[in-house]
Amino acid sequence: MIVERIWTGNAYRNFNYLIACPETGEALAIDPLDHEKTLATARVKGWQITQVLNTHEHYDHTGGNEAVIAATGAKLIAHHKAGGRIARVDRGVKAGDVIKVGKTVELECMDTPGHTMCHICLRSHTDQPALFSGDTLFNAGAGNVHNGGDVSALYATFVEQLARLPDNTRVYPGHDYIENNLRFTLAREPDNAAAKALLPTVADHDPAKSVVTTLRQEKQFNTFFRLTSPSVIARLRESFPDLPDEPDAKTVFIKLRELRNQW
Ligand SMILES: [Zn+2]
Repeated sequence: MIVERIWTGNAYRNFNYLIACPETGEALAIDPLDHEKTLATARVKGWQITQVLNTHEHYDHTGGNEAVIAATGAKLIAHHKAGGRIARVDRGVKAGDVIKVGKTVELECMDTPGHTMCHICLRSHTDQPALFSGDTLFNAGAGNVHNGGDVSALYATFVEQLARLPDNTRVYPGHDYIENNLRFTLAREPDNAAAKALLPTVADHDPAKSVVTTLRQEKQFNTFFRLTSPSVIARLRESFPDLPDEPDAKTVFIKLRELRNQW
């Protein structure tokens, strides 16, 4: 499996992806908003885009579909309930469905509601697994829920699905927000050594060369995986004095998401 992360350089800081089979050169384009860069990358690599997948229905993920499909004849894949929200879906997928790319690549669909209720993440079962997380999990952060989402569903997705993936899973999100997210982590947990160590390497960085984190790292510096950290809870109480002595993880997650909305 070859993963090509494409930095769009746009104001929304989107990452687009091409996932290719090294034997056949067939490729899957994930959320190819920047259709020109996606098509150009495939051309340079000698790949044929045969499928497009939208992680979810937001325009900054679907806006390049038409141009890529017109140029390649690729089939469009999205969440099975996304049909009314994304035009001309050829294949609606559910949890556990497998997307094959060429001869060698298999990606498993995860139904990951929260950012929106029709959100798909893809995971590979390669030696070092990969997760294409759309706007659900960001490097050092979590997606927002204010455009068709639900914070309880996002919490459940984090604890019941994402946190249970192998620790060596590489994380490929839909946007580059790592610098701002690490600053949020340090505002919530000023003694977080992993965030302190990583921040200088991503401050004012070139997102095209941005670090690819693993889930192990995310559990160290992503506040939304650190719901039982005494330091996170103590600091949260300063903003929410009514927080119980031992708040449950879901309450902590919801309060953190609330603070992140104003960050
Ligand atoms: Zn989105």
